[in-house]
Order: sequence, then structure tokens, then C-alpha cells
Amino acid sequence: AKRDGGGVARRFDPVLFAKAEQRRLAEHDLMRGLEAGEFEVHYQPIVDLDNGGITVGVEALVRWRHPEKGLVPPALFLDLAEQLGQVPRLGGWVLEEACRQALAWQVQFPGFEMNVNLSASQLTNPKLIQEVREVLERTGLPPRDLVLELTESVALTDLVESARVLSQLKELGVRIALDDFGTGFSSLSHLSTLPVDVVKIDRSFVQAMPETGGASVAEAVLHIARTFNLSPVAEGVEDAGQAERLKDLGAGRAQGYHFARPMPAIGVTELLDKQSAE
Ligand code: C2E
Ligand code: CA
Ligand code: CA
Ligand code: CA
Repeated sequence: AKRDGGGVARRFDPVLFAKAEQRRLAEHDLMRGLEAGEFEVHYQPIVDLDNGGITVGVEALVRWRHPEKGLVPPALFLDLAEQLGQVPRLGGWVLEEACRQALAWQVQFPGFEMNVNLSASQLTNPKLIQEVREVLERTGLPPRDLVLELTESVALTDLVESARVLSQLKELGVRIALDDFGTGFSSLSHLSTLPVDVVKIDRSFVQAMPETGGASVAEAVLHIARTFNLSPVAEGVEDAGQAERLKDLGAGRAQGYHFARPMPAIGVTELLDKQSAE
């Protein structure tokens, strides 16, 4: 054990040391990946249940194309990126890339929608409004076709500030979606305070729907959406039964592995080609 000036014994702890070292390497690797531009945007189709399940838009989902690890999902790097203060920059890049791509698809499908996730650090970034405005100008995407998704927990941390930022975004003409809707129910009364257009029903509710009949949380959430005049999108639809029940409940739009997994842009282009040939 080493003894420092204060007389406190500090023993070398190999486990702690290994953890700190691992963390240091992970940070370094992530910064290197950002610098090298190893990130990609994949897109998951959003379908219209009432219109034969045609694809009407997509959600942009970031991935890391790691030189050794392959395709890394956001759950494995977003927290660290957030701690390193890199999410506003990465998110800004995703936004621009997604809007550019949306415009390309709009040539074939006017009104094709692009959903982009916003994190807490992006919402509190004073440059956000300016950045969204500039991206819309640069890419030429009609603002109404951009939907910015944020989770209830992000929106409700500072309700007054969120309402202010969201109103400014809405003045640009973009739409706002509450993501993972229903998972933060304590703040239901605040729904009317926030200028929200769309609610994305969390997949836990979709997957908990009973096989036959019976009431479900998904149904209750759809009822709330209707009450507040919000367009619902059901997330995490994994089988035909769920899709059918959601359609009967009037969910309108849905997203999930049953329809399509997130895919690179080229996959969506092919899907749209096939769709327009039908
Ligand atoms: P999210 O916004 O709730 O996105 C939906 C997630 O559910 C995606 O995971 C998607 O691949 C997955 N998913 C879609 N359909 C199904 C299904 O049928 N079953 C199941 N089990 N899962 C399904 P992914 O791409 O790994 O993203 C995870 C989370 O990372 C996202 O959750 C979002 O919160 C965050 N994220 C992803 N991309 C971005 C981004 O560009 N910026 C920000 N700030 N966050 C992002
Ligand atoms: Ca989302
Ligand atoms: Ca979600
Ligand atoms: Ca989520």
C-alpha cells in the first residue's frame, strides 16, 4: 500500500484499474470512430395499417460500423457518447443525413416522412433550433415531413423549457412525436401542455396485447391519443396477429420487425421500388 501526504492508505486495486483502463480505451475508440466517420444511419419503415401496409415513412436509427466489432447498436455507445458530450454533434450529423435521404425518396413518394430521434442533450442545446432550420434549408425537405421524436422522460424533465423549445421547433413547421409513449404515465396531465403531434406507443404495450379479445394497455393508450388529438404509431409489432388487432383498434400506423427491420438506405430504396411497381 502507498501512503500519500494525508496518511490515507491507497492500495492498488487491479479490478478497479482494469475497469478504468477499459473505460479509457472505450472513450478513445469512440472518439476515434467519430473522427473517422464510422457511423451510419439505418432506416426502419413505418407503415400505414389502413392502406394495405404500405411504407409511408421511416425512422432514422444510428449505428456504428466498427472496424473490428462490426455493426454496433446505439445501446452500446450512445450513453458513452452522451457522457463525452458528443451526442449533439453526432445527432446533428444523423439529422442532416436523414433529411437528405428523405428528399431523395420524396422524388418517388411525395410526402414521404422522416422520423429522427432527439436526445436530452440535443433538446437543451441552445443551437438546436438554428441547426434544424439550417438543415431544412440546406436539404430542401418540407418541414412538415420531418418528425422529431423525443421520449417522455426527456420532454418532462424540464416541462416549461421543453414546451418553449418544442414551440420554436413547431414554428419551423416540423412535427413532434412522443417516443416510448405510456412508459412515463405519471405526467399524463402534461400532455396538453406540450405541442405534440404524434405518439409512438411503446412496444412493451404492443407485445403485451392479449391473443384474443380482452382489454389492453395498448387500447387504453390509443384512447388517450385520440382524446388529445394525437396521431398514434404502434412500435415493436412483431407478428401478424398484433398488426391485425392494432388495425382493428384504429392504430393507423405501425413499425416493427413484422413489417421490416431497420436497414441501410439502399434497402428502403429497393422496397419503395417494389412498392411502386405493385
Ligand atoms: P427507439 O427510438 O425506441 O427506437 C426503436 C428501437 O426498437 C430500435 O432499436 C429498433 O431497431 C427497435 N425495434 C424496431 N422494431 C422492433 C420490434 O419489432 N421488436 C423489437 N424488439 N425491437 C424493435 P435501436 O436501433 O437499437 O435503437 C435503440 C434506441 O437508441 C432508440 O430507441 C433510440 O432511443 C436510440 N437511438 C437510435 N438512434 C438514435 C439517434 O440517431 N439519436 C438518438 N438521440 N437516439 C437514437
Ligand atoms: Ca424513436
Ligand atoms: Ca420508441
Ligand atoms: Ca426506446
